[in-house]
Amino acid sequence: MNIPRHPLRINVGFLLNAPIGYSRDIHFDYPQIRLEDEYFTRFTGMVRVNRTPQGILVQSDFLAFHTVECVRCLEEFAQELHCEFSELYAFNRRSTTESNLVLREDGNIDLESLAREYLLIEIPISPLCRPDCLGLCPECGQNLNLGICEHSVRVTD
Ligand SMILES: [Zn+2]
Ligand SMILES: [Zn+2]
Repeated sequence: MNIPRHPLRINVGFLLNAPIGYSRDIHFDYPQIRLEDEYFTRFTGMVRVNRTPQGILVQSDFLAFHTVECVRCLEEFAQELHCEFSELYAFNRRSTTESNLVLREDGNIDLESLAREYLLIEIPISPLCRPDCLGLCPECGQNLNLGICEHSVRVTD
């Protein structure tokens, strides 16, 4: 499968001479994507770039899947991740926000590391392949989602 080299790089040069308040939506749709060292699948999303007096405001909304291990059954599965973030790429140092981003002279904005960071923090601390995952038998390690074992007879009172 083809993995794009700079999947989230956009050039906002066309916005620099646009009137204040002008914006454009850029859509993304990749079956597979690598953000630095991490792979994601079914990556879709939208980035709205806005011309403001201070710089280019970038509003991102991404949905992607990342392979994680279920804490109960230890099987790998594709965890759905959704993130939204806004960042200002300022025209000069005086206008930067906390993120301290300044628009490069060539007009290129690369959201790769930001998207990676915002998606990864959405991974639950205890991922579950499904809400009712039955986990493993503590006696023999059988994956109880796939079938019961001799220890699976539950005593109910
Ligand atoms: Zn599971
Ligand atoms: Zn068992």
